[in-house]
Amino acid sequence: MNIEIIREKRKTLLLKIVENGKILIKAPLRLSDAKINEFIASKQKWLNSKFQKMESLDEFANSFDFDKFIYEFAKPVMETKNISLDYESLNDAKKLKAIKKQYLEMFNTLKFRAYEFAEKYGFKVEQVSYMASIYKWGSFSNKGEMKLNYKLIILPHELIDYVIIHELCHSKHMNHKPQFWKEVEKFCPNYKDMRKEMKNYSFILKTDF
Ligand SMILES: [Zn+2]
Repeated sequence: MNIEIIREKRKTLLLKIVENGKILIKAPLRLSDAKINEFIASKQKWLNSKFQKMESLDEFANSFDFDKFIYEFAKPVMETKNISLDYESLNDAKKLKAIKKQYLEMFNTLKFRAYEFAEKYGFKVEQVSYMASIYKWGSFSNKGEMKLNYKLIILPHELIDYVIIHELCHSKHMNHKPQFWKEVEKFCPNYKDMRKEMKNYSFILKTDF
């Protein structure tokens, strides 16, 4: 295990997994090493399950066929718009730029879906626009503006719908309290599975393009 211990002026011990599975411990200045080791040992079970989860997410990310997804979604759009793209010949950086361009072209599909749901389910939305973020799939402002991350386009349709419904429900509840989730459940009864499923795609969210 890769562990870094930082001693600082504090009263309690803190343990966190940071990048590349490194464990960061923040400890009070004068706490003994033995006590710190005891603390780490007490967290071992939790750490193991976290690492296991990270590993399976990595596997999923590695086996994910980016190209196939992009082609499935992008090709019909490219064909109707007469865009031809020699995707194979692009290097990785250019590929990401090209993907972004394609996603933006396809963003209208998400937009229409959001308006369609708003009308069907009686939500008020002033405007739907895209956002680029490595932190959020969507947002909803108190002015009634919905923003959707264009990377959503790569997700399975039921997850896209979940995100749209989630954001629409923020027009009634600007928080994640139980009432909010009750509202979500009305339109998306299996929202709990969707939330779990969304985590599998967090690597797409974190990919910066
Ligand atoms: Zn939310």
